[in-house]
Amino acid sequence: MESGVRVRFAPSPTGPLHIGGLRTALYNFLFARKHNGAFLLRIEDTDRNRLVPGAEQYILDSLRWCQLHYDEGPDIGGPCGPYRQSERLHLYRHYAQLLVERGHAYYAFDTAEQLEALRRELSQQGSDLQQYDATTRNRMINSLTLSADEVQQRIASGQPYVIRALIPQDEEIQFVDRIRGTISVHSRQLDDKVLFKSDGWPTYHLANVVDDHLMNITHVIRGEEWLSSTPLHVLLYRFFGWESQMPQFAHLPLLLKPEGTGKLSKRDGDRLGFPVFPLAWTDPETGQTSPGYRERGFLPEAVINFLALLGWHPSGNQELFELYELIHDFSLEHIHKSGARFDFEKARWFNHEYLKRLPGEEVARLWQQFPEFYPQGVSWDYLVQVCDLLKQRCSLLEEFRDAGRPFFERPVLPKEWVQQHDKGQVNLWLPELLQALDRQSDFSKTKLEELLKNFLAQHGLKAGAVLPALRLALLGVNQGPSVADIMAVLGKEEVSQRLQAALHVFTSIDNPKVNT
Ligand code: GLU
Repeated sequence: MESGVRVRFAPSPTGPLHIGGLRTALYNFLFARKHNGAFLLRIEDTDRNRLVPGAEQYILDSLRWCQLHYDEGPDIGGPCGPYRQSERLHLYRHYAQLLVERGHAYYAFDTAEQLEALRRELSQQGSDLQQYDATTRNRMINSLTLSADEVQQRIASGQPYVIRALIPQDEEIQFVDRIRGTISVHSRQLDDKVLFKSDGWPTYHLANVVDDHLMNITHVIRGEEWLSSTPLHVLLYRFFGWESQMPQFAHLPLLLKPEGTGKLSKRDGDRLGFPVFPLAWTDPETGQTSPGYRERGFLPEAVINFLALLGWHPSGNQELFELYELIHDFSLEHIHKSGARFDFEKARWFNHEYLKRLPGEEVARLWQQFPEFYPQGVSWDYLVQVCDLLKQRCSLLEEFRDAGRPFFERPVLPKEWVQQHDKGQVNLWLPELLQALDRQSDFSKTKLEELLKNFLAQHGLKAGAVLPALRLALLGVNQGPSVADIMAVLGKEEVSQRLQAALHVFTSIDNPKVNT
């Protein structure tokens, strides 16, 4: 057990939460719960150009749907609030200036044109130097090259400036990643990143480090894409004198395309027909809505289970985990370094496993959330019985649309399928079966199974010839639940009517097998 654990999920509201982001939130949540720590939600909304309306609410809704409840966050507050960076601006200016005063950062006044000129010059020289670093900063307009008076004048006259980190020239920066081990990067590979922008907003790096420190974060668990920023963050901890309280880092592997190469993107989902967002998202620009896992009929428990296993591997072979088991078993040491290949079929499998364990009432209640194909005018009891059957065969609630229809509407029997059955035979036994069913008062599944078994034995019929024809006659389908199950759910009256209608079809359609 690690003590005093405080972790955070720190998304930027620049669009809908991707399932990769949801996995990051989940791992933070599991880690916090496992160690009796705190899980925080912090909204990193300092990149004002990339803000997307509705994205923050979407993040909150997604976490709520998955029941990843946080202990501190923008909507519930907490001792280290506010938890939205746009409400903490006063702090960042203060800390940026502190770094300037301590000689770890400097003002830079270069205009966009001047920076562009430097970029062009470097590329003409075929240089791989980074644009603003130890080798170039002396050629630029900044508080390292201007006199103190001039810097003051420029600032006083309102000239725009940024504050850049002063990266040491020749230093090996080392830190330990809980998943990847010791990482070592030479300061030569870093540039003097902007920490504070001319519009008065901090960049991600400054705000992230300041907030992690002020919020007493003990472990930074985040996506691999942030690994390259970590050396700068390590330097910032040192510049501020916060080294001894620096959080531990754990960078999670990428979620890969189903092919196993490259990062999973929304385009992959569109191309292969699976969602990459937890909930439906309507793009505010195009007005286009993409369904999420919820709208495709996934259960949040299944999403959590399959996401947990995308990158983290428990010690045994167990695949189905209740949340409390995930919390119990989770450890950073069992997270893989290499990317985790996304497999939608496996995700469906998980959902099926969860769906089939739910009682019919629960499934029926979930179905109500899909009004577009929730059957109207049906009794609750009947619906529950149908759900008990469908959940055995469907992986997603969206599949109930087609699989459920024949229970609510009498089927039209496709001619080709009728012709596949030996009509001559069906016409012989179906009238007799109708009579037997008519005499049957107990329409429970077990009694019906018995009746069918006896009927087959008495007439010397093969199950393989009779049952598929009956299933077709009852539901108009070639595959589906057992005939006794179907009959028990439909009930005596409906079974009798459907079988009589089917007998009529079998009798009226030419059967090539008989004619030839
Ligand atoms: N705001 C960053 C993001 O959008 C947070 C990265 C981090 O966790 O440090 O993912």
